[in-house]
Parts: sequence; structure tokens; C-alpha cells
Amino acid sequence: MPSNQLKTMQLLHNYINGAFVPPQAGQYLDNYNPATGQVFSQLPASDADDVEAAIAAAEAAFPAWSMTAPETRHDILRAIADGILRNLDRLAAAESMDSGKTITTARTIDIPRAALNFKFFATALMHFGSESYYLPGEAMSYTLRQPLGVVACIAPWNLPLYLFTWKIAPALAAGNCVVGKPSEVTPLTAAILGEICTEAGLPAGVLNIVHGLGPVAGAAMVKHPKVKAISFTGSTRAGAEIARIAAPMFKKMSLELGGKNPNLIFADCDYDKMLETTVRSSFNNQGQICLCGSRIYVERPLYERFKTDFIARVKALKVGNPSDPNSNLGAVVSKMHFDKVMACIELAQEEGGVLLCGGHALQLPGENAAGWFIAPTIIEGLPLHCRTNQEEIFGPVVTLHAFDTEEEAILQANGTNYGLSATLWTNDLARTQRITSALQAGIVWVNTWMLRDLRTPFGGVKNSGVGREGGWEVLRFFTETKNVTFGL
Ligand code: NAD
Repeated sequence: MPSNQLKTMQLLHNYINGAFVPPQAGQYLDNYNPATGQVFSQLPASDADDVEAAIAAAEAAFPAWSMTAPETRHDILRAIADGILRNLDRLAAAESMDSGKTITTARTIDIPRAALNFKFFATALMHFGSESYYLPGEAMSYTLRQPLGVVACIAPWNLPLYLFTWKIAPALAAGNCVVGKPSEVTPLTAAILGEICTEAGLPAGVLNIVHGLGPVAGAAMVKHPKVKAISFTGSTRAGAEIARIAAPMFKKMSLELGGKNPNLIFADCDYDKMLETTVRSSFNNQGQICLCGSRIYVERPLYERFKTDFIARVKALKVGNPSDPNSNLGAVVSKMHFDKVMACIELAQEEGGVLLCGGHALQLPGENAAGWFIAPTIIEGLPLHCRTNQEEIFGPVVTLHAFDTEEEAILQANGTNYGLSATLWTNDLARTQRITSALQAGIVWVNTWMLRDLRTPFGGVKNSGVGREGGWEVLRFFTETKNVTFGL
């Protein structure tokens, strides 16, 4: 709840026009450490006035930034990447404390990837080109790709700095100025990013970070006529709300939304690699990765063996204090999310699901006694069309199923309204080709999971979103295409 009773705890500010400023109305939100259940900082509960100031700063910075030589833009983005890596320990500790993810995950996945996002788009902008077409003796056409102006980047809590920078870096690389909003649940590393950008020499106003609630600060960005494009990652519900407002204003939108990803395992797969990877793809970051496989389908001859081994491996996972390098899972992100995941587990049982392991909250000792920890949970015996197998849970919960034929596996995999990613385990080449072409998903992994090459297109189909991020796709999204033809 907004509150203006500020005590001694860490107070975050908005980053507008290169300076850290308090919210104009003086209202703040509490920020919780999920591993202790305690408030440890407060963030601005910004409103439309703060967003207005950020957009004005971005607009003023745009002419100079959009005309800045690519080499200079490259150098600044590289310097931001270097600054992130110099602050690796500090950022990883902040990310872990803010989100409940293990320090190991933050140190080895989230923060290095945030640095890589800047490094990758720093070099990409130096090579970004466009097409030309020649009609001999008649005409010459060429395509300009010009930056849009002010764009909004709105990010979720599950991979806070990783996903925030995945949007900001290409937007800046393409010559835009950004108003960004991190999740109100995980604001800390975005605040540190502001410091790093200033140190790296990013001119004032090129990146502005406004904290606050989605329906207030986020909505003010979405509906502002000067914001020309919105890159949003979050829930399908909020994505639909954003599209409802932005579509009639004809804004460009890239919407990266929820998922209910299937994992198809055939008996001919490389068993040990599949088992180890499936444990990770189910429970990494407490199952709070949009790419986690939450519905596991196993070919019947392998089913009992997999079930026994999978349960044993999952039971051996250590749910613990996120700052302990030996913890495999930390806390889920918030009390609200904890309650939601626990309600989903209850619903699964009401729907006839059988708990194979987990299914309960965990109370850890000491300072973590009031933290939001859930035992990794495996559920068996549920049909495709129950709510548990149709709705996104986004927690440490997976369902297990056996299948007999390839056709049945494809029907099950495609049988939800989502279509973000899918994982296939088989060594049969012809089958791989058949299934990968039949799967309704934007991203398909075969015999691996979450292996990301930043040049590849990233995004979902159906209710998992529209548009693609990554590589040239996102640089095209963040630019307007203009064709010029002149007669010869
Ligand atoms: P969320 O939709 O609640 O919030 C995401 C962001 O949008 C936050 O910054 C929030 O403040 C803001 N927001 C919320 N309502 C808004 C509105 N009306 N206008 C403008 N901004 C608004 O999502 P979340 O709970 O933070 O994140 C979890 C969801 O994100 C899951 O559904 C997950 O699948 C999805 N996700 C998708 C991907 C992907 O790449 N497809 C990646 C990560 C997470």
C-alpha cells in the first residue's frame, strides 16, 4: 500500500533526466524480501506527473541521441555492460534479496545476461543495415530504419534486470530514448542501473526509470501520446489491457506474455541429459521462468522409470535461504504469489490430481521463518482440459502425463491457449522434424532447454504474445521503416 511514513530503510528514487528524484506526490510502496517476509526498502508510487516528467526528459534528449554516431552509442552501451559486470556482486545480492531467487542464479544467470544484453546490442547497432532495390535504368529504392522517438519498456519481476535490459539495450541501440518501468515487486537492480548508466556516460534523459504500480505508472506510459512503442513482458491479462489502450492509438507493441509450456519426452532420448535438464526446466528460479516446462509428457515405455527418478531428484533439491550458495531453490516472489501458487496446488487436488511430491509450504528456520517457500511439487493424473493444465501457475509445480503416440503428444502439447515455448527430447531425426513443425510455439528446444543465442527471434504465439524480440527483429521493432524511391 502507498505510504508516506518513511523510516530508515533504503529509499529508492526515480531516475529522470540523469538525476535521482523523489516521486512528485511523495507517495511510496513497501518492498519486501521474500525470504524473510520483511519490508526492507521503499520505492516511489509514481503517478502520471512523474511519467510526464520522464517523457519530457526523453523527448528533449531524443534529437541529439538519435543523431549520435553509432560508434559513440556502441562505446556507451559497452561501458554500461562493463559497469554491470563491475557491480556483479552488488547487483546479484540485490536481485536475490528483492526476488527470493538464489544468489547462485542471480550471479550466474541474471546479472551476466543483463551485461550481455548491452554488449550484444552495442555491437549489433554497428552492423544494423537496411535493404536497397535497383530497377535498371528506372529507379533506385532504399529503406531507412529510423528511431521512433520515446518508447516505453515495461518489465516483470521474475528476471528483473535480465528482462528490463533485454528491452532497454536494443531500444537505445536503435537510437530511441526510453521511459522504463521495472516491476514494483523487484525495483532494486533497476535503481542501480541508473547509477551505472550515468557513470558510463549515457546522456541525461536518454534513459528514464519510473517506479510504481502497473495500472498507475505503467498505464500512464501506455496511454501517453508521445510514447510511440511499447515493449512489454508480463502477464497475458496485463498485455491484453495494454493492447486495448495502445491499439486504437496505433502504437507499435511487442507483447511477451504468459505460457503453459509442454515438455515432450520420447523413450529414445539421451536419458541422463534429459533427466538433469528436466529438473532444471521444471524448477529453476522456483518455476518462475516463462520458459519453464510445466506440463511433462513422457512416452509410456519410459514413464515409470522417469517418474521414479524424477521424484527422487526433485526430493533431493534443497529449498533454502537464497543467500546460501548451496540452495537449489529460494523463495517465491511475494505473499500474493505464494497464496496464488498454494491455491493452484489445492485446486489441482480438487480436480483429482495426485501429489507425487511437495504440495506444501516450507517453514525455514531463523530469519527465514516468515519467508515464502514452497516445496517443489509434482502432480499426476490430471486431464488436459482441467484448469491446472490450462492456466499458468508460474511456480514450482509441474504435472506428469504418459502418452502412447506421437499424434497424442502433439495434441496434448498444443491443447492450451498459450504457445510460448516447447521442449522435445528424442534422437529420431524425422520425428524431430515432424513435431517441431507441428508444435504451436514461438520457441522450440530439442534436446536442450533455455539455451539462448541472442541473435535468434524470441516470442510466443496464441495468448503468449505478439511480436518478436532478439537479434535484428527487435532492432526493426524499435525503428520505423521508410522506403525512398527515386527515378533514374
Ligand atoms: P504483470 O503483468 O503483473 O506485470 C508486468 C509489468 O507490467 C510490471 O512492471 C507491472 O507493473 C506492469 N503492469 C501491470 N499492469 C499494467 C498495466 N495495466 N499497464 C501497464 N503496465 C502494467 O506480470 P508479472 O506478474 O510481473 O510477471 C509474471 C508474468 O510475466 C507471467 O505471466 C509470465 O509468464 C510473464 N513473463 C513472460 C515472459 C515472456 O518472455 N513471454 C518472460 C517473463 C515473464
